[in-house]
Amino acid sequence: MPSRKLLLLLLALCTPPSYATNCTGKGIEMQVLGSGGPETQDKRASSSYLIWQDGKARVLVDSGGGSALRFGQTGANMADLDLILFTHFHADHSADFPALVKSSYFEDRQRNLPVYGPAGNDTFPSASEFLRDLFDAKHGAFRYLSEYITPGEGSYILEPHTVKLSAKEIRREYSANGLSADAATVIHGSVPALAWRIQIGSQRIVFSGDTNGNNGNLEKLAAQADLFIAHNAVPEGATGAARSLHMPPSVIGRIAATAGVKRLILSHRMLRTLGQEPETLAAIAKRYQGPTTFADDLDCFALH
Ligand SMILES: [Zn+2]
Repeated sequence: MPSRKLLLLLLALCTPPSYATNCTGKGIEMQVLGSGGPETQDKRASSSYLIWQDGKARVLVDSGGGSALRFGQTGANMADLDLILFTHFHADHSADFPALVKSSYFEDRQRNLPVYGPAGNDTFPSASEFLRDLFDAKHGAFRYLSEYITPGEGSYILEPHTVKLSAKEIRREYSANGLSADAATVIHGSVPALAWRIQIGSQRIVFSGDTNGNNGNLEKLAAQADLFIAHNAVPEGATGAARSLHMPPSVIGRIAATAGVKRLILSHRMLRTLGQEPETLAAIAKRYQGPTTFADDLDCFALH
């Protein structure tokens, strides 16, 4: 019987190089895996994004429900990822993570995979706790996958990185091989939450995550971004809990304008915003006149 490694090698030789179905496989591209929020009725996967470089998936941001299937549809490989970033640990941003980890078992990944996420509180785990809650050998929900957090047991481990920042701090958390990731705290009710800026080649890609946009950090993190992915979870005029958790279009427009972003992508599209696109665009256009696009699953944005 040929070894598992040999079988994987033969499979790799017989399979064309991976590239995103809707991406070109050339240069730097950002692909939307999930353009929805938590609701399943809108037939969108929940929040998740991939950054590609020359046909290799290098960064995964969030992995909400449904995103593992989209990940597979793009032709991405877990073995290619340099890092995984979480904005926060709501289910619509993290529920498919164990599915991706299990999928990686059938690839040949040898190097450790850094996983970054926010600090915890009484209701949410930190990034380190999240990995333990899933994979701890004794108490993890998926304890049968404990090799992924136990050095020496599997072919690689998930390296936990809990990001603890002061209120106004923007900090570089990762930098290697022409790729860096900077984090800032954003306000999302009582949920510890981060926004992320990826710099890859000469491109800057910023993800707002879920936030009400009120603490002034996004404007700085997104300064001169080539692509700003903002979460359009509420319509203009939202009040109460919806507004205290999320940015209405006018706030997205103000932040995009202040930051001087080159292109704005609206994602995390929830049922209450679908059908409101003309009003949303109008509220944004009063403040930001740059190109603005609503995201759908598997949309791919090339950066030049
Ligand atoms: Zn969300």
